[in-house]
This record gives sequence, structure tokens and C-alpha cells, in this order.
Amino acid sequence: MSYLSIRGLHKSFGDTQVFSDINCEVAKGELITLLGPSGCGKSTLLRCIAGLTEVNNGQLLLDGEDLVPLAPQTRQIGMVFQSYALFPNMTVEQNISFGLRMQKIARDESGRRVAEVLEMVELGEFARRYPSQLSGGQCQRVALARSLVTRPRLLLLDEPLSALDARIRKHLREQIRAIQQELGLTTIFVTHDQEEALTLSDRILLMNAGRIVQSADAETLYTAPVNAFAAGFIGNYN
Ligand code: ADP
Ligand code: MG
Repeated sequence: MSYLSIRGLHKSFGDTQVFSDINCEVAKGELITLLGPSGCGKSTLLRCIAGLTEVNNGQLLLDGEDLVPLAPQTRQIGMVFQSYALFPNMTVEQNISFGLRMQKIARDESGRRVAEVLEMVELGEFARRYPSQLSGGQCQRVALARSLVTRPRLLLLDEPLSALDARIRKHLREQIRAIQQELGLTTIFVTHDQEEALTLSDRILLMNAGRIVQSADAETLYTAPVNAFAAGFIGNYN
């Protein structure tokens, strides 16, 4: 049943251990939120899954395939960061199609796919604009489109909304959820924001100091926290 399996994952930087035994199963089409305070290891875990940092030990299986020996560009995993890092000298369209050119996708097919994802993120009219002509929220939607256009098997979102202001954050959160559900795209959404986690997810993995403290749906986490940390962290949300 599980689409992504993380088993006994260990990551250290030199003498600094970030986590030593992360275990987690994600079903196909599920959106799980990885929630926890700054420094608990969320980004490192995503980077291990994406192949941007090497794991020391443990297993990562996606759709039955061992990810660990695969180079990041062959994992078919999309990732969006807090800083959207678009190419400033390329239009929206060019930013989105860049990855497809690297994959040697034919021009026609590429054009079709770019139009399709621009539609999804409601930026159809902005195809020929440059990033400097867009708002932060629009740039983040371009970054999302850029990862969707490659048709990833798994989408990793590392605090994609944290740099945006509250009103835009809520709108974009809903948009991400709608697209994710429409595509049935298996997604891990990282945040340190309780409200985001409680409103967005099928399931929340609450993390602290390199450990998964609790894995539960929002209601269970809110009404039946497993320990004082979980109660305190979730209880801060009001
Ligand atoms: P989070 O995303 O939850 O804020 P991170 O995964 O970024 O946490 O960081 C977890 C821990 O790993 C922190 O103590 C951080 O300092 C450390 N860390 C992250 N990246 C590196 C790195 N490249 N080198 C050394 N330590 C790192
Ligand atoms: Mg982080």
C-alpha cells in the first residue's frame, strides 16, 4: 500500500547527528505535512529524499524502487523551496520549460505542458513576463509550475509559503491542495506553522530534534497529543 517508504534513515553532518532512525510510510496520493520547530531536521529529511544530500544509512523506496543509488535528476522528484530562485533573465515560460529542455522533451510537447501547468497555477496571462514583474506569491506559483511540468512521482515542498504574507499564504495553500488532489500527487509539505499543517494535510508528522514524535491526522494531533512536546507545540496554535 505504501508508495514512499523511509526506513531507518540516518543523517549526520560530521559529528552532528540530525536524525538516526526516521521511519515513515506514505500512501500514493497522500499529502503529509512534516511539522516541527526550526532546526529539527525537516529540510535535511527532504533533501535526503530528493538526493540533494547523501544519507548515512537507511532505506528510501519510491514505488518499490531504491532511491539511494539514484542521482537527484533521475529520481523524478519535484521540489519547491521557500526561496523560489527563478532565473531573472528568463520569462515565466522559459523558467518553466528549462527543465524540459534538459530532459530533451520535444518543443511541441514542452509547449503543451507549459501551457497546462500555467493554467493550473492560474498564470496563463503571465507567460511572457519576467520574475521581476511578478509578486512573491506569483513567483512561488511559477516555481510550483516548474516542478509540476516535469510530472514528478513525488512533490516535496519546503516551507513554500513562509516568505509570503498571510492573505496570499492562505490562498496559495488552498491552490496547492486543489492541484495536489486533482493530480493525485503524493506530496510532503514541510512547515513550522501549526495552522498550515492543521488545515492542509491528510496526515501530519510532528517532528522534534530529529525524531518523529507523532504521526496522526489533524484532529487526533489536536485532541490526543502523545506527549508534552506535542501538546505544547500544537497548543500554541490558536
Ligand atoms: P529544519 O529544516 O527543521 O529547520 P534543518 O534540516 O535545516 O532543520 O537542520 C537540522 C539540523 O542540521 C540543524 O542543527 C542544522 O544546523 C544542521 N544542518 C543542516 N544542514 C547542515 C549542513 N549542510 N552542515 C551541517 N549542519 C547542517
Ligand atoms: Mg528547513
